[in-house]
Amino acid sequence: MSDDLTSKSWLTLNKTDIQAKINQGLLPHALLLFGSSLAGQEELGLWLSKKLVCQQPTQENACGQCKACRLVQANTHPDLQFIDNGEKTIGVDIVRKAGAFMQKTAHIGKTKVVLIHACENMTEAAANALLKTLEEPTKNSYLLLVCNDIDLLLPTIISRCSQIKVQPPVGHELAALINDNELINDFSNINQFAELTDSKVKQSYIEFNQLLLNWLQQTISSSELLTGFDSIHSLRWLSHCFNQLLRIQSGWQQALQGHALMSVANKYSNEQLWQCLALTQAANKQIKLLTQANKNFTIEALLVDIEDLLQQSNSDKG
Ligand SMILES: [Zn+2]
Repeated sequence: MSDDLTSKSWLTLNKTDIQAKINQGLLPHALLLFGSSLAGQEELGLWLSKKLVCQQPTQENACGQCKACRLVQANTHPDLQFIDNGEKTIGVDIVRKAGAFMQKTAHIGKTKVVLIHACENMTEAAANALLKTLEEPTKNSYLLLVCNDIDLLLPTIISRCSQIKVQPPVGHELAALINDNELINDFSNINQFAELTDSKVKQSYIEFNQLLLNWLQQTISSSELLTGFDSIHSLRWLSHCFNQLLRIQSGWQQALQGHALMSVANKYSNEQLWQCLALTQAANKQIKLLTQANKNFTIEALLVDIEDLLQQSNSDKG
């Protein structure tokens, strides 16, 4: 992987914009930093929160040496709060606490910062509680919302924040950065950023696609495929697979030369593949709003539906 990818060099543009606002004294109190998964909004949020509490920041970064910076490094800065629930939902209690934290006077310096990771995972009640905080901004306090899927946020939250979009390169620019990545083709785009740039995600993508291929060749059952649905990306990958199959059927072989799915592309009809894609996309939309148990159930039901569809296509042909 190139240094540009490791350092996410495209964040420089975002940082320059933010610094200009700080210099003008115009940095908004609520910022929504969003982009597709792993695009860099996490790094940008951390960078900004450190810079905001630092006592002598440079134009580029926090100084790394002042009392505030040392407390940040030790994870004990009293005026900086990180909310990170991983992939779990963020409940109303957490958000209320953060709101109360922002109302208090700062201990060191003047500034207080709350950063919420993966804020798209807030429950509706939590989002409504956050609205209160957004409507009553306190002096010298900043709320940084890091978001990996802006479609999942309430429009009322989005409209009350200043939006900063993190946008990594796509197409040829992306290919130039990922010159050794066998996953890239002419159709690679920003949505695939996670597997194109993160080696762990890439590994699970490859494993998942092998399972998927076996399933499409009908050498494993739906319940065996289900074991591969342990990544937050799995449903997107399933959609991607049907997209690729449709592209291969549409005669874009050249762009997808040597693609593993070539061997199954003509096993199914165009109509069946479109239906599979539509089912997967509908499930993907629905699932984001469900609890874990219901997610599992929805994926199981989806795979059964698709399997029915694909077998139907086979028996019709035979
Ligand atoms: Zn400092």
